Amino acid sequence: MQNRKPYSGIILRWLAHPALPVLIFLLFLGIASTLKFGIDQQNDAQISSRLQSEAKSLARELERDFTRHVEALKRMAERRKVLPAISEAQWREDARNYLTDFETYQAIEWISRDFLVRWVEPFTGNEDVLGFNVAFSDARHEALDRAILTGSLDVSGVIQLKQGGTGLVIYAPIGASDRNNGFIAGVFRMENLLEALQAPRIRNHFQLDIMESGQSAYQLNADSALITNFSEQVPVNLPAVEWALKLSPTKLWATQHRSFWPWVTFVTMVAVGAMVSVSVLLVQLILKRNQVLLKTRSELEQEVDQRKAIQQDLARLASTDALTGLANRRFFMEDLAHTLSIADRQLRQVALVMIDLDRFQMLNDSLGHQFGDELLIKVSERLNQLSDERVLVAYSGGDEFMICQQQVEDIDDVINLLGHVKQCFSKPFIVQNEAHTITATMGVAVYPQSGLDADILLRNADIALYRAKDSGRNTYQFYTEGMQDREVMRLELDKDLNNALARDEFVLYYQPQLDLATMQMGSVEALIRWQHPERGLLPPIEFIPLAEESGRITDIGRWVVLAACRQLAEWSDGPLSHLRVAVNLSGRELDDKGLVEHIQQALAKHGVPADRLEVELTEEIFIANLERNLDQLTRLNKLGVHLAIDDFGVGYSSLAYLRDFPVDLLKIDRSFITNVTDRHDDAVITRAVINLAHNLGIQVAAEGIETEAQLNFLKSHRCDLAQGYLISRPIPAADLPALLARGIKFDSLPTAP
Ligand code: C2E
Ligand code: MG
Ligand code: MG
Repeated sequence: MQNRKPYSGIILRWLAHPALPVLIFLLFLGIASTLKFGIDQQNDAQISSRLQSEAKSLARELERDFTRHVEALKRMAERRKVLPAISEAQWREDARNYLTDFETYQAIEWISRDFLVRWVEPFTGNEDVLGFNVAFSDARHEALDRAILTGSLDVSGVIQLKQGGTGLVIYAPIGASDRNNGFIAGVFRMENLLEALQAPRIRNHFQLDIMESGQSAYQLNADSALITNFSEQVPVNLPAVEWALKLSPTKLWATQHRSFWPWVTFVTMVAVGAMVSVSVLLVQLILKRNQVLLKTRSELEQEVDQRKAIQQDLARLASTDALTGLANRRFFMEDLAHTLSIADRQLRQVALVMIDLDRFQMLNDSLGHQFGDELLIKVSERLNQLSDERVLVAYSGGDEFMICQQQVEDIDDVINLLGHVKQCFSKPFIVQNEAHTITATMGVAVYPQSGLDADILLRNADIALYRAKDSGRNTYQFYTEGMQDREVMRLELDKDLNNALARDEFVLYYQPQLDLATMQMGSVEALIRWQHPERGLLPPIEFIPLAEESGRITDIGRWVVLAACRQLAEWSDGPLSHLRVAVNLSGRELDDKGLVEHIQQALAKHGVPADRLEVELTEEIFIANLERNLDQLTRLNKLGVHLAIDDFGVGYSSLAYLRDFPVDLLKIDRSFITNVTDRHDDAVITRAVINLAHNLGIQVAAEGIETEAQLNFLKSHRCDLAQGYLISRPIPAADLPALLARGIKFDSLPTAP
């Protein structure tokens, strides 16, 4: 089977070869020529055999004629022998009778024993032969002697007659030996002798040769146009003479007897050859045309394939995000819609997971877009490892990714996937040769319970994501029914936030910070509240993230600074004049280039010394903005405004910045303080932070103190400031004087003097 292909290929190549029609034609020409030659040969053989039979019948006729004459002469000789005294006149009379019977004689002669012609009939025309010695040569003499001796016939052969012309003399001896009385001789002219044979069919079509001893002795019809390759010679059986008869046909006769079949065959074969050649040529042309068509077709198919590939590439490009190589949002949503329609039929669940990278924006802003892009690529690579036939990972833009999980049997499937996503972030990402630990927050919406179409599912996953972010990061949150309401509320709040400043709905509450050395209130933290017309007093968690998102935080921040300065001014000539007020600044506020001027103006406006004011930045924000806003912070520092690092311990582990930057206060995050008396780790960290700060000449505050044990711990480890519900909740400014007057008392601690 395997060898067939090459063979057929070779055959096809041969069939297509341009020399093939010529070869076929030559082959037919060869066959035609061979056939013609063969038939010609056969034809020639037929012609020859016909000629031969013609020659034979002529020879037989000649033999018969000759024999008749011989017999007649013999009879005359016998009569002369029987009648020796016959008179010349009588003899002549007899001879005349013979001549009348046989018209072919030129003459009949009596030749005496001495070989002289004595009598001749007819006399007229033969006068010259009287007295002619017929033994005119030794050969003739010898032959005639022999005839006398034997009494048998002698024939002269073809000779020149004394009377003129060519002829033949038959000598019949009259008696033998001594009783011989000469000869009766019959003289024949050759033309007369052969005239009898000359039927019209012979005369017009043949040359006749009488051959004597191999030589032509007499020729009849010598001027005929002969065809030389056909001539038949047959012996003529005559007494006393060796003759052969040679018959040569004229061209006309040969032509008439030639068959036309050789030519018919030849022409037919050549015509068939020509037809076959032309047919092959046509087939070749068709094959060639076919090949061209096939080639064109395969070229077209190639082009179609190329176009398909291009279209697929285009489709892929249209569906792929150029940076990450993951599916883009558009493709993801189309696929999700399709997946949902299938899930609907199969009664399966589909999970949509929205992933938001924690602190990405900050990293991107501080380390540059190049860094951000590389980090996104690295994250994409890890997330993409989760892709399989059930899981599609896409990049949504910014720092958001989306995952669609199909064929969800139960919620454990989704939780399992979330675990895998979390795993992706368990190891640091190496970007620009540095390891960066990054976490992700996820919101999950599950079809059909969390939404029936792709858009609603996406919106609800988004809501769940916000929830997850609100409740701290590096976690996940499933969408629940109530979230929708909360989202609506959030949106309404966002709307109301527009007017809150104008309506003067914000208030500052103040939470005292206890100086543990003196057990006196030395400072307060200003914490914003929103006196919402319908919802009452709202804590910052309800609106600060909203304000950060919408950018309104800048104005709110400016209001806080102004309000704090106004408050400081109010307190400046009373018992609270020693208080320092700490205000919280969010990251977005630091981006405000006019921040330092604004603070300066606020301080100046209310005549407040700069060191009365403290600015709290969370560790996270501080680090993120360190380089970018170094200038702002330096100017703030130069102004004399204190700088505190809020929520210390939950952000970066690098503490290098503390050495390089003039920080006044570290506020240990509440999460360490809550369990500081129970958990060894938290106690160790807290102690370490206190020592570290002190070694750097920085004051330390502890947030979230709710028990006296915590307070005692901190005091015993020489923490400088304490803040927490144990001391006081955040309270309106108006309540502060009373608090101060009342004093802060603890059962286990000595009261301040
Ligand atoms: P923060 O700066 O770390 O403020 C301390 C938060 O801890 C306050 O919550 C306070 O009420 C609470 N707290 C104090 N002691 C205790 C305690 O013993 N136990 C417990 N459980 N909590 C305690 P608050 O007022 O809700 O503020 C939350 C956060 O909102 C603040 O955290 C701060 O980051 C932000 N914030 C408050 N006011 C402003 C503001 O004017 N501007 C900006 N940008 N952020 C603000
Ligand atoms: Mg604070
Ligand atoms: Mg704090």
